[in-house]
Amino acid sequence: MARGKSITQFCAHCERVTRMEMIGAVETQPDKTWYRCTRCRHATLIDLVQFRKTQEESRKKPDRAECFEYRPQNTYSVGQAIFHSEWGDIGKIISKERTSGGESAIVVSFEKLGQRRLLENVMINPEAEG
Ligand SMILES: [Zn+2]
Repeated sequence: MARGKSITQFCAHCERVTRMEMIGAVETQPDKTWYRCTRCRHATLIDLVQFRKTQEESRKKPDRAECFEYRPQNTYSVGQAIFHSEWGDIGKIISKERTSGGESAIVVSFEKLGQRRLLENVMINPEAEG
């Protein structure tokens, strides 16, 4: 199959991301193209400009300015970008889990270091600080 003829896109009928085949362009709307879901066969009009923008957005690396600085006492959510000042690396939180000791941890995919597990929501004794 020729490249660019099918895309993966969210299908409103299947309520999931499916593979869609191109059916044809819309003469009056050059940026929009009809695609048919290979699963439910429903046709969807896709705005290619919007589609490319969404793709670029998802491929974009997290920006340092958008990152939260990692601190063990903070809590984070999946999808957040964090900056680890000690390691000088930024990463995205891909999942959360619990350690065997019952502490909560975040799994972060760092740009340079790869996947790392970090503790979150750590209770810090104020007297032990400084
Ligand atoms: Zn579908």
